[in-house]
Amino acid sequence: MTAHKWQEDVQRDLVRNAGDRAALFVRGEGATLWDADGKRYLDFLAGIAVNSLGHAHPAFVEAVATQAATLAHVSNLYATPWQLELAARLKRLAGTGETGRVYFGNSGAEANEAAFKLARLHGGADRPRILTLKDAFHGRTMGTLALTGKPYMQEPFLPMVPGVEAIDSTIEALEAALDDRVAALFVEPIKGEAGVVELPEGYLAAARELTARHGALLIVDEIQTGAGRTGAWFAFQHTGITPDAITVAKGIGGGFPIGALITYGAASDLFYPGTHGSTFGGNALGTAVASAVLAEIESADLVGNAAVRGPQIRETVAAIGSPLVEGCRGQGLLIGVALRHPVAGAVVAAAHEHGLIVNAANDATVRLAPPLTIGDVEIDEFAELFARALSTVEQALLLDAPSHTEEASA
Ligand SMILES: *Cc1c(COP(=O)(O)O)cnc(C)c1O
Repeated sequence: MTAHKWQEDVQRDLVRNAGDRAALFVRGEGATLWDADGKRYLDFLAGIAVNSLGHAHPAFVEAVATQAATLAHVSNLYATPWQLELAARLKRLAGTGETGRVYFGNSGAEANEAAFKLARLHGGADRPRILTLKDAFHGRTMGTLALTGKPYMQEPFLPMVPGVEAIDSTIEALEAALDDRVAALFVEPIKGEAGVVELPEGYLAAARELTARHGALLIVDEIQTGAGRTGAWFAFQHTGITPDAITVAKGIGGGFPIGALITYGAASDLFYPGTHGSTFGGNALGTAVASAVLAEIESADLVGNAAVRGPQIRETVAAIGSPLVEGCRGQGLLIGVALRHPVAGAVVAAAHEHGLIVNAANDATVRLAPPLTIGDVEIDEFAELFARALSTVEQALLLDAPSHTEEASA
């Protein structure tokens, strides 16, 4: 394949922190993307769980246009009605009650940085320890990188911000690690970047009880799982616990960059004037758009749609009967298709060729995170394209037809 000019531009002009880009996208509508050559793709990744409403949804377009023409930014020296409306909406959806509070940033990492500072404010000198899970992903800034339990990501940037310890994702490991010198536990309800890996049964409930017993904060990172993706507004709500704080970003802006820390109860009183801030955070444009996105998710019951479409997609994947596929993990519309061989990259590339956008959450897991708006039409098309992609890779691996591979091992 001859390199396109845009690929040369990528090589020359962009910092080389990421790999080659697979396409130059120029337009989107719903769950459809078009590249610069006019090729059409079905988008089952939604910009990594960001485009909750799909591309160019009228509610999103209208909110951006109207707000841009009204008031975009005034700085946090001042309040705006749109910021206050989004804060109230997030408090309601997250179930904080009256005592909750919201801090706005512009990304997931900024939401988690704020949560890290919340943990330090809570811990003070007496509680220097912060717990996170091995394999967790909480962001790429220096603070959130320390929270990200992946040594290979941290290694080029040592030394890390001190105090953070990564523990195994078991209730026993948490029990062993907790003491009265721990300020907080950070946890993803489903470890998205680790490969859509669920926590052990009962983990969040146990974590709530144990952290409360030791006076540590329970901080739930809902950046990938929030905004309805798992079939609840926030994934922790499947469990009935109340955390001390959650962080959100990705899906709440529907494509507009925004993140937030949402606090509950006593944790809401830890920040005081001068302890944190952001110039762009919570500006009128971002908050108006996020409010419009969340209002549309609510009025169209896209949380309910995620709850129904998730199982439908899993059945669809099972029905393909590919010898490559071991099964599905995740919840709602955050799905990890587990493969029996470490060929997720090849499946993603084959899917791309066939016009389907998915990504590799790890070597042996293909992540599906379609827009929350998808229905039967998109799922039928997905079934066809994903079957073709799997078949392409099966042929390359010379795997037998489904009926002959009952013993195929993981
Ligand atoms: C994406 C993600 C982040 C980081 O968000 P950015 O907007 O990329 O900074 C943090 N935590 C989780 C669970 C994520 O999925």
